[in-house]
Amino acid sequence: MEMENKITALTGELTLDEKIGLIHGCALFHTAAAEEKGLPPLVMSDGPMGVRADFFDDKWMPVGTPADAVSYCPSNTAVAYTWNRHLAKSAGRVLGSEARGRGKYVILGPGINIKRSPLCGRNFEYFSEDPYLIEELAVPMIEGVQESDVAACVKHYALNSQETERLWVNVEIDERALREIYLPGFEAAVKKAGVYSIMGSYNLFRGKHACENKILLDQILREEWGFDGTVISDWGAVHHTKEAAESSLDIEMSVTYDFDDYVMANPLKKAVEEGRIDEKFIDEKVKNIIRMMVRTNMITLEEQDGHVRGVKNRNRKRGAYDTAAHRQATLDVARESIVLLKNEDDILPLDENDMDRVLVIGANAVTAHAPGGGSAEIKALYEVTPLLGIAKFLGGNSKVDYVPGYYVPENKDEDVNWQENSLDDGASAVGAKDETEKAGRSAAQDMSKKLRDEAVEKAKQYDHVIFVGGLNHDYDVEGLDRANLELPYEQKELINALLEVKPDMVITIVAGSPVAMDEWAGKAKAILLTGYCGMEGGTALTEVLFGHVNPSGKLAESFPCKEGGYLGDANTPKEQFPGRPLTKEENAVMDAHLTQEYSEGVFVGYRYYEKNKKPVLFPFGYGLSYTTFEYSDVSVNKIGETAEVTLTVKNTGLMEGKETVQVYVGAAKVADEDPVKELKGFEKVSLDAGESKMITIKLDDRAFMHYDEGIRDWKRYSYSFKVYVGASSVDIRAVVEV
Ligand code: BGC
Repeated sequence: MEMENKITALTGELTLDEKIGLIHGCALFHTAAAEEKGLPPLVMSDGPMGVRADFFDDKWMPVGTPADAVSYCPSNTAVAYTWNRHLAKSAGRVLGSEARGRGKYVILGPGINIKRSPLCGRNFEYFSEDPYLIEELAVPMIEGVQESDVAACVKHYALNSQETERLWVNVEIDERALREIYLPGFEAAVKKAGVYSIMGSYNLFRGKHACENKILLDQILREEWGFDGTVISDWGAVHHTKEAAESSLDIEMSVTYDFDDYVMANPLKKAVEEGRIDEKFIDEKVKNIIRMMVRTNMITLEEQDGHVRGVKNRNRKRGAYDTAAHRQATLDVARESIVLLKNEDDILPLDENDMDRVLVIGANAVTAHAPGGGSAEIKALYEVTPLLGIAKFLGGNSKVDYVPGYYVPENKDEDVNWQENSLDDGASAVGAKDETEKAGRSAAQDMSKKLRDEAVEKAKQYDHVIFVGGLNHDYDVEGLDRANLELPYEQKELINALLEVKPDMVITIVAGSPVAMDEWAGKAKAILLTGYCGMEGGTALTEVLFGHVNPSGKLAESFPCKEGGYLGDANTPKEQFPGRPLTKEENAVMDAHLTQEYSEGVFVGYRYYEKNKKPVLFPFGYGLSYTTFEYSDVSVNKIGETAEVTLTVKNTGLMEGKETVQVYVGAAKVADEDPVKELKGFEKVSLDAGESKMITIKLDDRAFMHYDEGIRDWKRYSYSFKVYVGASSVDIRAVVEV
């Protein structure tokens, strides 16, 4: 029998109870088995930076076994800064193998939402403001995951670009922006990577929750893209039995313990028994789930005495976690993810033989970030912090000292798992913590002042000072957007004071989102940026600081400045959720009023700054190296409906290095409704000092197309185009008209 026939036959043999068991969580992270029919429970785990610790089935409490510590991978922000498809794949391989090694079948990542506003709390889990860059990195990452017989679950589909009111906000957006900016990553995950599962988001789209949304799920995902994998809801994102049952959602998961009362549990069973909902909808869901079980080699389907049964697949890969190879892979990603933003007077790299004493300032030098962030939290096997990285690298010939410099109030809510209450209020536990913070604000200010004075005094006594600050997972966090771009904990004051006494201090900012640097970036000589770089992040940073690794990261989002502004109120819908469970009537009112208009349309990120001629501090695609690169012989050859770009890149400096050449495309004569140019190709090339290489960058079918709402399809939007070849979205080295 053909596989599809077997799937249908087996589905036909399942009882209603068995089917209901397969389509909703009977525990926080798994569904029920249909044991007699050979279908195991589907075991899932977060998340994007490694496999999350195990939780009890019915309590948001970690089981607490030492056997669930894992490799901590760089965040997707860091992966994006590498602009390296191979590294994205190897990050995916680590994640897949560790998920499998830990006995999981579905890993709830990668997160690929657009970084629409720099304030979004979950930006660190996402790649970029640009859909092409997302697509190019998410596809190999998903492929890497799925090599280990594990399903990636790409999330959050769709338009989950803010945390404010994430459960209730209704996104209104024009069709073109939807298709060109917000959906391409998901479309590529389905069509190019063959992703096995996808997570429906919390928010609403055009008035309907994403997990019950016929446009997103039935029309676009299933019909247009042909997705026949499994759609899993975000935890608590399903609200209505009939809508959910009759849409293309397959599995309902949630954060509460009343598993039998989930929308797609007993209420659905009853509705089917009473004839209000047709069982055929459930059969479709079950088929999608069984298909995924077969694809991930959980089971094979075998015919036994005229019946089809699932049989454990003994050839399934078994995965591995905490291997030396995985740690090496996280280090490789971290090395290429660090972005050198400024290096006046060649302050960097530092000379390791001239480091008798070095002072490291800033709480982020000693902060382990792995345990924070929300569902992306990781119980890391270890995490090399910047201070540890520097100290272990410099060894016995140097004295490495540390002072915190700024005060980070303790997170008092650590015993409570925020996720347990995450449906009660739009904000997370961190929001509540902000209130506590307010109360203790003047005490915190006193502490900060004390630590700042101490750091400034101390800095005067050292020849070498390295600052490590930025954000942490109290700010880069699920469930909460930042209020503004400012660095927290009075770091601005600290950095300014330190620069007065140590003008050549090296500044390292750790963050998953842009932060304001207006008031000190001009004065600073050396600035490095790292996303959350995983367990070997401190090692990688140190290698960059001392020139053992030449930085090659480039920004995956624009870093705004005051003058140019940013999508500031982007995260604030017109009305706020009151912070308590709503009545049915209130639900309806809220549905109508919590609308977030994406009125900027396609003008997100650099598309916005360029169109409106607004300055940025550091542009999309930007990043320096310790060497320099020259581009020459740029030509564009037409190939069928698209083109390829050829050029020669030369390393004109004294150190081997890597350069990411970027290709942008725009109409020769730009229409009002179009961006000036858009990223359509890139290639990262490694060159020894003095070496030249010819590279070819192929542009894909859509490089010269836009989405046409009239024909509901992609269409060439001009007859003559400009192809821009550059080292960033602003540093354009050649323009060729085609
Ligand atoms: C998050 C998801 C996550 C899920 C399970 C939700 O709060 O939005 O990204 O996978 O919880 O932990």
